[in-house]
Amino acid sequence: MSTNKPLPMPTGISAPFWNGLKEGRVTIPQCKSCGHWVFFPRRHCDKCWSQDLEWKEVKGTGTLYTYTLTRVPTMPDFADEMPQKMAVVELDEGVRINTTLIGLDEAEIAVGMRLKPVIDTVATDGTALLRFTAADKDIPARIDSTPAALAAAAEKAAETAAAAPRRQVRFDDEAAMKALVSENYSPWSNQVVVDQALIDEFASLSGDDYWIHTDPERARRQSPFGGTIAHGALVQVLQSRLTIPLDYEVVGFNNMVNYGSDRLRFPAPVPAGSRIHARSRVKSVEKLPKGMQMTMEIVTHVVGSERPSVINDLVILYM
Ligand SMILES: [Zn+2]
Repeated sequence: MSTNKPLPMPTGISAPFWNGLKEGRVTIPQCKSCGHWVFFPRRHCDKCWSQDLEWKEVKGTGTLYTYTLTRVPTMPDFADEMPQKMAVVELDEGVRINTTLIGLDEAEIAVGMRLKPVIDTVATDGTALLRFTAADKDIPARIDSTPAALAAAAEKAAETAAAAPRRQVRFDDEAAMKALVSENYSPWSNQVVVDQALIDEFASLSGDDYWIHTDPERARRQSPFGGTIAHGALVQVLQSRLTIPLDYEVVGFNNMVNYGSDRLRFPAPVPAGSRIHARSRVKSVEKLPKGMQMTMEIVTHVVGSERPSVINDLVILYM
């Protein structure tokens, strides 16, 4: 399991629905006595009270009954889905399903619009959620939103950006080096999934096994973050696994020394199961007797979150 988002907990009555989604099918119960479709799943028909129900596969097409946009995550784990487009969809069989809309801009959503199902795998055991998008959208009927799959997709985008030609800047060209200083950040790096397994490894390595990092059960009940969070120091060192695409390359130096950080802050938590990515900007360049010193601000964010989780002003001396 690599996500801390709450997942469906199938019961004896609802399990066929969740199992159907795992297999790529939308199924709902139908009353064999009167033909009425039943949802949410129950033991009896809510029209004629018969207990003679049968699960049937349906197309899953329908119309948007109502919706709302959530702009504040209900739990930190949902930061990467903001704004969530929560909806009630009325299937063509007449039943209504609570769900989320995907692949739609806010302006494209309208009550009564035609929708089609998208089965979204969200956990490595195949657990899937039933989501919906506009009937005319070019979105596959099955998608994979496990954190690992989303990170792999971001990896490709970052690789493309990193492969672009970079201009070379000589380390001892003071004017050119100072011209790199900017208020604007680079594009985003690749993404890394910070799951509980990784946090546990870091806890064991560092000796910091405080429950807020390592005890999901207790953290769910007692932590202000609604679950476990990564150590700030872990997120900081993960910067080594984030390749930030830069449009320049410093060249001509014999030696590059990492002097540490001018500033290191952890302004926002990284909930277990989050994806993180980073970007950077050159904050200052100073010519010293020993060489050229560059301060690079590297900010690491949970994907979708505006507040950085780590701010690191890294000081590098080129000699
Ligand atoms: Zn019935």
